[in-house]
Amino acid sequence: MVQDFEIVVVGAGPAGLTAAIRLLEMGHSVALVEQEAFPRPQIGESLSPGVRSIFAYLGAGELLGDPRYLPDIPARVAWGSGEPLLVEPAQRGGGVMVDRAHLDAQLLAVAIGKGLQVFQPARMTALSFQNDRYELKVQSAARDFRITGRVVLDARGRKGAHTREHMTLAPASVALWTHVPADTMRHEAAIETVGEGWIWGAPVPGGEYRIMVFTDPDSIKGQKLVPSMQQMLTQSQLFRSVLIDDLRFEIQTCVVSVYVHTRPWDRQFIKIGEAAFTLDPLSSTGVEAAMRFSLQTAIAVHTMLADGNPGVAKAFYENKLADAVASHSRWTSGYYRQAATSDSPFPFWEKRRNFRMEALSVINDFTALIKRRLTRERPTTHAIQPAAVPIDPLIRFLWDKPVRLSGQLAFSSEFAVTGDRVEIRRALQHPNLSRPLIYLNQIEVPPLLNALSEGDTYGAAIETWCRLVPYHDVKKVLGFLWSAEIVQ
Ligand SMILES: Cc1cc2nc3c(=O)[nH]c(=O)nc-3n(C[C@H](O)[C@H](O)[C@H](O)COP(=O)(O)OP(=O)(O)OC[C@H]3O[C@@H](n4cnc5c(N)ncnc54)[C@H](O)[C@@H]3O)c2cc1C
Repeated sequence: MVQDFEIVVVGAGPAGLTAAIRLLEMGHSVALVEQEAFPRPQIGESLSPGVRSIFAYLGAGELLGDPRYLPDIPARVAWGSGEPLLVEPAQRGGGVMVDRAHLDAQLLAVAIGKGLQVFQPARMTALSFQNDRYELKVQSAARDFRITGRVVLDARGRKGAHTREHMTLAPASVALWTHVPADTMRHEAAIETVGEGWIWGAPVPGGEYRIMVFTDPDSIKGQKLVPSMQQMLTQSQLFRSVLIDDLRFEIQTCVVSVYVHTRPWDRQFIKIGEAAFTLDPLSSTGVEAAMRFSLQTAIAVHTMLADGNPGVAKAFYENKLADAVASHSRWTSGYYRQAATSDSPFPFWEKRRNFRMEALSVINDFTALIKRRLTRERPTTHAIQPAAVPIDPLIRFLWDKPVRLSGQLAFSSEFAVTGDRVEIRRALQHPNLSRPLIYLNQIEVPPLLNALSEGDTYGAAIETWCRLVPYHDVKKVLGFLWSAEIVQ
């Protein structure tokens, strides 16, 4: 028997589970296929402070308070030529070191509590599309079966797609890691650059300290892993006391490529999390970025299913994906540039110095969008925090004066999310605004400016606006526009 759902999610990592929870909350029928039995080990345990608000939003905030997890770890950073710097938790925000095997299993339980239908351990092995629905072939130990969905969310992580479908956004590195007893190092995270790359270490739940080195694949080609890793540790200031040997230390390794998928929204087959894009581990924000993007994708999917118009939904999804990729790439390449001295002969730094976004090849509209975002100069805004103005005297002063709009005011079309649906709205653009403005405290501003007539005084404008929104909102909007010098 074939079971039918509106949405099938493949993969129960943070990306798949975030999307599943939100789409269930929006009233959709959602199934999830996960190939591993949980708990299963997973890398990516150093969670950035921003995940807290996402877990809370999903109704799962208490999961991060598990007594086994390690919150608020200080970090000692020796980046580039500078002296090591101790960054206290208060300066970094409230990150937490978790056990992903445990956390992913608990988040799955939250999703099941909200109505998720789970097939696990079960693996998607084939997919076909017919009559506006996908049919998935699923293989489990007990039997093979089929399920269908109007939308498939591919959350299979980095192994989900072939590398020829990736647009590479930075030179690849290789990660080597092992665990030493917790008391080998201080109870701190440590980050340090060395000749062949950089090193990260942190205590992990379970009384161990994880050390991970990132280097160029060419640096370890044909080399034994333990001596390669030991050489990097010995060069360092923060890790030089650590001694690893073949007998007691198991080294794990993986290639770390930084990419965005070239066709992440294909008909109704949509990639999320690391199936869509990966970040350089330098920022330790992979999980947060994957979850945040899943929240946005859930809105896009809901809009498509509710409005039947995939155009806006897909454009919103692709723009959010481009935003995530561009802001992260700028941050990472800037951070690497600080450490990549012009004479460093090692391939890790040399490749980062020479990597040019301008050389990225474009194969479709989506990759063209990514390249534009990565290579364009950021618009220069002189965003100001408008000062609070005493509004009643200002209104009396302006009452008979004509409204003059700033010559630098422009309008653009932007995405606006209301009630879990995305739509296109007009927005104000001005150098004094940090981003296009649609709403001010939930008051839609462009229609107010639209309602003005040539030669209106402020008194006439206020009377017109009072027919559209309450007087106390008119006061808020006018005070803001005046102090941001959008009206003069
Ligand atoms: C070396 C390294 C270090 C990192 N360190 C950090 C860090 O410190 N902090 C951080 O925030 N992030 C880190 N990350 C990134 C982090 O691991 C990822 O961002 C995160 O796991 C992505 O989540 P996801 O849900 O997209 O995929 P995953 O967590 O990979 O989940 C994918 C799921 O899909 C399942 N699956 C795959 N194929 C199928 C199939 N055919 N059928 C059914 N199920 C399938 C898998 O079993 C898996 O459970 C690191 C990454 C790397 C490579």
